[in-house]
Amino acid sequence: MDLYEHQAKQLFGEHDVPTAQRQLASTPDQAERSAARIGGRVVVKAQVKTGGRGKAGGVKVADGPEEARAAAEQILGMDIKGHTVHHVLVEEAADIAEEYYFSILLDRANRTFLSICSKEGGMEIEEVAATRPQAIVRTPIDPLRGLDRATAREICHRAELPFDTHPRLAAVMTRLWRVACEEDATLVEVNPLVRTEDGRVVALDGKVTLDGNAAFRHPERAAFHDDAGADERESRARAKGLNYVKLDGEVGIIGNGAGLVMSTLDVVAYAGEAHGGVKPANFLDIGGGASAEVMANGLEIILGDPAVKSVFVNVFGGITACDAVANGIVQALELLEERGDDVSKPLVVRLDGNNAELGRRILDERAHPAVRRVDTMDGAAAQAAELAAA
Ligand code: GDP
Ligand code: MN
Repeated sequence: MDLYEHQAKQLFGEHDVPTAQRQLASTPDQAERSAARIGGRVVVKAQVKTGGRGKAGGVKVADGPEEARAAAEQILGMDIKGHTVHHVLVEEAADIAEEYYFSILLDRANRTFLSICSKEGGMEIEEVAATRPQAIVRTPIDPLRGLDRATAREICHRAELPFDTHPRLAAVMTRLWRVACEEDATLVEVNPLVRTEDGRVVALDGKVTLDGNAAFRHPERAAFHDDAGADERESRARAKGLNYVKLDGEVGIIGNGAGLVMSTLDVVAYAGEAHGGVKPANFLDIGGGASAEVMANGLEIILGDPAVKSVFVNVFGGITACDAVANGIVQALELLEERGDDVSKPLVVRLDGNNAELGRRILDERAHPAVRRVDTMDGAAAQAAELAAA
């Protein structure tokens, strides 16, 4: 789960990472009052789960309540990379002397954590990595030992951060490690981590991703979850108990079993290369018990996605045999037609495994105009991609 900046900063505060005084606002009125309470210069910042807000005009410095109100008026409702701004953070402005970059992320490939530090913060780290790779210091962090003060001092040294600030920076880094470790985060990123004119070290931005697999250990963090930021289709799917993730492509995908669905995404993306880069439109695993109702719910979500041009239903019959799945598809289509839903988008169905022959016969006998039966996964992927490109 990705957190908003204001949520990330709440965690920072709880772990003694210095942040600026701030308040969340959802109206220009509130922003004005927040600015009045904070006093002096403030920064009004769009709360969206994407980077580059500064460049997009989502971060504005305001001299006093009236300017803060005007800034909030501009920023609220703004669209930043497809995210609508519903809240702004009104924050006491910092006098920045220097901007650094610091992050801790889970390094799956090396089964450890990795810290990345640069004295060139503020801009996008990918840009620094591309243009000035020598300005980036990578340090593995043993997950059992963590990031101790000595290692943090070494990072400061190697990143050539100003020597007199090493003690403060190192203290902040070890606390950010505690955020990563104790909150079960897979990413903790501060860009910029700043040194102020009066020598303090402050986290001016915060990006945290909490590991959903560890959510059961943090019931108190459930409140961070909000559906406003998620895709509306994803929330409807979640409400129906479906394991659905929206992607960018045109081929709707339904399968049973996460592994099969993952490989279906791969074969569709591969087949799509021959058709102008057609890609999967979603991940949807309907699980082992592919009942007609679950199939109908899944089809409803996918067919309702305007980006979807064709659908690939890829089912391997196991405990739920193919004949049951085929009946499920037929009933699902009838259910949707009864409800008046449009079911004219082509549906490529591949059934294999337990009772495959019987399942295929059921589909053939029903002969629904939208359904095309293909018996191999590659063949079905190719046809679904071709139909999506047509
Ligand atoms: P991002 O663009 O989404 O990463 O948003 P950031 O929170 O990193 O803000 C972008 C930039 O705005 C920062 O790199 C700073 O240069 C500037 N900025 C943010 N907060 C302050 C502040 O309190 N004072 C000043 N002077 N600049 C700020
Ligand atoms: Mn930033």
